Amino acid sequence: MSRSTFRFWFSIIVIPTFLVIAVLAYFAWRQSVPGVRAIIDPAPRWIAVKTPLTVDLIAVRGGLRSVEIRLKQGSARVVLAQQVFTGPPSNTQRVGIQVAGGTLGLREGSATLDVLARDGFWRPIRVDDRPVLTLPITLDFSPPSLEVVAATRYWAQGGGGLVVMRSKGASRVAVGVGRLAFPAYAAGPPDGNLYVALVALPWDNTSGTPITGMAQDEAGNTTTRNVAVEIKPRRFKTDVIDIKEDFLERKLPELLPERGGAIPRTELLGAFLTVNRDRRKQAEEMKRALASKTQPRPLWDGAFMQPRNTKVFSNFAETRTYRYQGRDVDTQIHFGYDLAAVRHAPVPAANSGTVVFAGPLLIYGNAVVLDHGLGLQTLYGHLSTIGVKEGEQIEKGQELGRTGDTGLALGDHLHYEVLIQGVSVTPLEWWDARWIRDHIGRPLREASLPLVQSIMPESAHDQAPPSRRRRAVPPRSQSSPSSQSPSRSTAPRVESP
Ligand SMILES: [Zn+2]
Repeated sequence: MSRSTFRFWFSIIVIPTFLVIAVLAYFAWRQSVPGVRAIIDPAPRWIAVKTPLTVDLIAVRGGLRSVEIRLKQGSARVVLAQQVFTGPPSNTQRVGIQVAGGTLGLREGSATLDVLARDGFWRPIRVDDRPVLTLPITLDFSPPSLEVVAATRYWAQGGGGLVVMRSKGASRVAVGVGRLAFPAYAAGPPDGNLYVALVALPWDNTSGTPITGMAQDEAGNTTTRNVAVEIKPRRFKTDVIDIKEDFLERKLPELLPERGGAIPRTELLGAFLTVNRDRRKQAEEMKRALASKTQPRPLWDGAFMQPRNTKVFSNFAETRTYRYQGRDVDTQIHFGYDLAAVRHAPVPAANSGTVVFAGPLLIYGNAVVLDHGLGLQTLYGHLSTIGVKEGEQIEKGQELGRTGDTGLALGDHLHYEVLIQGVSVTPLEWWDARWIRDHIGRPLREASLPLVQSIMPESAHDQAPPSRRRRAVPPRSQSSPSSQSPSRSTAPRVESP
């Protein structure tokens, strides 16, 4: 082949071929750049009367241009959201919408959620007129039924009560008090659709606090019903506690082990405030967390017992002012009863239950938390020794350990709390067999739920006398607003600050 012939063929075949390949390769690369990705996390399974949806969009190149979110059911199509992104191009966008399921004109049942999205990147063949995300979804606009069957009538600030509800179609039933939600547990025969909740009225909730039954289905449809109650105010005591330097020097290394031993005198107050504020708050959070370990049925029966021959040194929901070197340095609420008898006295379980915590618990020192079911728990703090293990089943009166002064305690005593879903309530109510019969037993009897034997009519009277004998300090009537202090001792102070 002559040189000129070669040049001829080269120019009319090889060069154009190469150009065509280069252009095709360029197109192929353009086409290979993936389109927009849409993520809904967690993936929704339901559209209810009101359902929030958050869609995250991610483009690889070219920035996001537009999005359309729609529902498809048979031949029907409903656009839920349509948005064009203006402004500087961005490869990520978040779209949040509220879907009002009942107003869409679709029927309940299965449907498909489609997300269509476009980026600003040119491709030879369009890819963005197909959904970038398709999810099967169920439309459900029927809220669960809810009826309040029976409830404690008279409540007191810092006290408890019980609500029985009937609900069909609910996956979650609860009672709301202010911002708190107290879970209700299925009870009785399955076809009765009954739920029972123990509820705490926090000490600082006033009589205007609404108590609301709530039922929610899996789709998120919610029904609420007001619970008719009468709330009696209670007055709580105030107290001043003098904090001494030598007490802080002795106690703070135990309470703040991370400080690695002795704390200089100038830092004692700061360290004390860390314990009294932060560690106390952590202890409150810990109590709430332990509530999730409760059993869905009562494990207790009869009145709760107070340890024998103990005197009350400090009451529930006392507001305490802490004084250091003549100055008021802090204010906190005391959430239990301080009980003292002799040094290293045995600590009996107030009622039967399961140990859900046994060990050091911040300001409470060595502590045991017993679960009595339905969210009801008792806490025993400042123990010198612990004689039980987590998971152990305990009989009423069984020894849990010995009193001591571990944690934030000035002297040997028992710090005792009654908790409902981690919220402290006055122990007085649960020491009182009559209060239990009238406030917990009555709604259970009205709903024909024999969950606790001792408060059913046939055995109610047998149970009351022994529980009264056990009580060293009989509580006064709950109707008196100033009945928080049955018998305050004048003996040396032992309270947990
Ligand atoms: Zn205490």
